[in-house]
Amino acid sequence: MSRVLIIGAGGVGQVVAHKCAQLPDIFSEIMLASRTKEKCDRIAAQLKRPIRTAKLDADKVADTVVLIRQFQPEMIINVALPYQDIAIMDACLETGVHYLDTANYEPPDVAKFEYKWQWAYQERFKEKGLMALLGSGFDPGVTNVFCAYAQKHHFDEIHTLDIIDCNAGDHGQPFATNFNPEINIREITQRGRYWEQGEWVETDPLSWSMTYDFPEGIGPKKCFLLYHEELESLVKHLKGLKRARFWMTFSDAYLTHLKVLENVGMTRIDPVEIRGQQIAPIEFLKAVLPDPGSLGPLTKGRTCIGCLMKGVKDGKERTVYIYNICSHEEAYAEVGSQAISYTTGVPAMIGAKMMLSGKWTGRGVFNMEELDPDPFMEALNLHGLPWKEIISQ
Ligand code: NDP
Repeated sequence: MSRVLIIGAGGVGQVVAHKCAQLPDIFSEIMLASRTKEKCDRIAAQLKRPIRTAKLDADKVADTVVLIRQFQPEMIINVALPYQDIAIMDACLETGVHYLDTANYEPPDVAKFEYKWQWAYQERFKEKGLMALLGSGFDPGVTNVFCAYAQKHHFDEIHTLDIIDCNAGDHGQPFATNFNPEINIREITQRGRYWEQGEWVETDPLSWSMTYDFPEGIGPKKCFLLYHEELESLVKHLKGLKRARFWMTFSDAYLTHLKVLENVGMTRIDPVEIRGQQIAPIEFLKAVLPDPGSLGPLTKGRTCIGCLMKGVKDGKERTVYIYNICSHEEAYAEVGSQAISYTTGVPAMIGAKMMLSGKWTGRGVFNMEELDPDPFMEALNLHGLPWKEIISQ
């Protein structure tokens, strides 16, 4: 029986609120707080049990501290934007509250995907006897847990890892992003990077591709190599790893739109002055693109996100592919959001459930693969993200 404060009432916040509300034994009281309170109230009105809502600018540590002291949650589920991570961690330290997020901290003025800022909180969380769980979404999140599960049950050593993220859904819009456009476009337009033999190797943005044949009728799709944040922690924690890469599918139409937007300067994150106002073009672009939340009823099809791992067990080589397939339509029918928000929000709820039920405990800052994967894997099957594995010798 615990109180939880969810911060962020976007696509992911909506799913987290629905999923937490489904488990009153774990999440006995829920508060949803975000910059725009109306969004919290709109989500609250969809739920079968009452939750509290509040207006909060989580960039202001003092405001978050006041709200925490009023509501007295045991933990915070941070599903606002990556820019708020550090401020919310500071508020947790000040008030003695556990912390969870789904994306690593990014400074607003430079697209950097690194855990260094949050790993620097290790000692402070330890000293206070608090736990911070980083990256409890799907990727990062479930993908880290798939790796930990494979390392525990299927391998003595994992030698190569390919995380492959496929959205085989279609929203019928000429161009839209499935989660926050600013965060999404910053991630995709940066240089690619993978890890090999202890070194990071850089590639030009979206310059490497492969075709992967996805299971269960999804079929072959072109995937592009990207840098993704879970690689940074996984290369530290997987034994014997020689290479780690991340791939994501994009349609030709998506890539053409992105190229044009980039060429005309609309993806720039540095502000330009317009009629006396400083506006980053990407923020303006976000304002004119479809709200990812509005894509829920329009999106059809499935996502397939999984980890393809090769390595050795008892001296023999083997390949293991662990994946989840999630239907956009089924996600919408359950919680009113498409599968991208669903596959992020469900693991955020499960991570919180692990912490509040005492299955995952610890002092300090943790990445997902550092904790026992078994109860999390079991919970994925229970809460809407069933997984499968294919093992070949
Ligand atoms: P949205 O843009 O839909 O929602 C973000 C929410 O945060 C909005 O409600 C926004 O408020 C609120 N917010 C922004 N700034 C503040 C602030 N200063 N104080 C309080 N609230 C604030 O994003 P998503 O729901 O799509 O994504 C949420 C998080 O999930 C992001 O960090 C994203 O990177 C992460 N993510 C992780 C994935 C994974 O697999 N690990 C996959 C997809 C997303 P307002 O409405 O007023 O703007």
